[in-house]
Amino acid sequence: MKNRLRLAPSPTGLLHIGTARTALFNWLYAKKTKGKFLLRIEDTDLSRSKPEFTKNILEGLSWLGLSWDEDPINQSERINVHKVIIKKLLDQGVAYRCFMSEEESQQLRETQKKNGLPPKHDNRYRGLSKSEIKSFINEGKSSVIRFKIDDNVQITWHDQIRGEIKWLGKDLGGDMVLSRRAYGDDIGSPLYNLAVVVDDNFMNITHVIRGEDHISNTAKQILIYKALKYELPQFSHTPLILNSEGKKLSKRDSVTSIDEFREMGYLPDALTNYMTLLGWSPKSGENEIQSLDDISRIFDLKDVNKAGAKFNWEKLNWINSQYIKNMDTNELFNIFIKYWEKEKWEIPSRKWGLDLTLLIQDSIVVLKDVIDQSKPFFKLQELDNKSIDFLKENGVKSLLINVIELLSKKSQTIDRNYIKEIIEEISIKHNIKKSILMKSLRIAFFGCLSGPDLIKSWILLSEKGEDLSRIQKCLDII
Ligand code: GLU
Repeated sequence: MKNRLRLAPSPTGLLHIGTARTALFNWLYAKKTKGKFLLRIEDTDLSRSKPEFTKNILEGLSWLGLSWDEDPINQSERINVHKVIIKKLLDQGVAYRCFMSEEESQQLRETQKKNGLPPKHDNRYRGLSKSEIKSFINEGKSSVIRFKIDDNVQITWHDQIRGEIKWLGKDLGGDMVLSRRAYGDDIGSPLYNLAVVVDDNFMNITHVIRGEDHISNTAKQILIYKALKYELPQFSHTPLILNSEGKKLSKRDSVTSIDEFREMGYLPDALTNYMTLLGWSPKSGENEIQSLDDISRIFDLKDVNKAGAKFNWEKLNWINSQYIKNMDTNELFNIFIKYWEKEKWEIPSRKWGLDLTLLIQDSIVVLKDVIDQSKPFFKLQELDNKSIDFLKENGVKSLLINVIELLSKKSQTIDRNYIKEIIEEISIKHNIKKSILMKSLRIAFFGCLSGPDLIKSWILLSEKGEDLSRIQKCLDII
């Protein structure tokens, strides 16, 4: 049988980088093994699940290029099936009704706290007789369904990332709740550990790859698999993504949703490439920058680290800038033009826009840098103080007047050679270094001392008919 992998997001928030990285590892493994990557929307928590989050998750995955192979399954549509299975577990005697009230639970927690013990359910309703159960129901008490976990049961599995993992029943918090509270004979809506096992089995999932925060859930789920005589999938638990302080990356770490990365101007290919490096790395000597298809060929779960993966903005920025550098300029221009249109900055021609794109392409880290980098070509910038000092100290007024005189004589648009000639002629005439004149011109054009290639920038300004006027305006100030 073909491998079947899945992502099972809960639509209770925007697509998070952690979920996206889990999706990516599942996707890569499915591709590598020519299997299928599937989606199941775990929307049984009706109070927190929202259709707009499902939409956001699906759109985010599509944007990242993590396509899925079958229609997504909505877990909420399978609640009745889950209930039938819970009933089966009750009939088997491996699960039971627990009538513990909120107050009783709270009291238990307080006593445990007072005695310095970790919170653990004490299974006090485990041994009820049929008639006791009946009378509790008749009294109008509500109940949850719990699955028996014996303290001495041993759960062992081979994790594809972590090797052998062992758990003891006593460390799983007591008998596990399978369903929410309900009255009478009813079974409340199913909870995660039950639903995930039933649905993974239904979807014939062969490999479960998810975050290490699910390890203890896996131990619990294996008990359910065994009770239902389902075949176990292969489990893999990926390392968590950590912030710079080594703590789990959370909403407090400013940017965590895929939408935000998109808005900041990260390219999907760069972001997925970076995400593969959160916990995995190619063998030494192999390039870190590779397409997902190429990575899927060399990716292997046994090469995924066990230790947490620190999120490194510098690395992400470097990877993004490499993707931008290597992008087809026409394609990049099509992106940039949207930013310019939003700012209401008009380009004189497509060729001009392409030339500007080419000029700044290598200095863009995230797409929205295009605004700062291209603004001086659309808007006259105020001179910064350093520039004013420079112009005054070097007495460049006569140089700039000279440039205006030469430019005024020329009728057609200027080119590289003509600019070189002007610079040569004026620097000889005034006996100054070329760099003084070039710096003065850069200030006159753009208001500052640094920027992209001066001659190319000048040609662009000249094509907009703004070089002369900008020099003139600068002269008016100094
Ligand atoms: N809905 C769970 C989550 O989002 C799924 C975990 C799993 O992959 O089993 O954490």
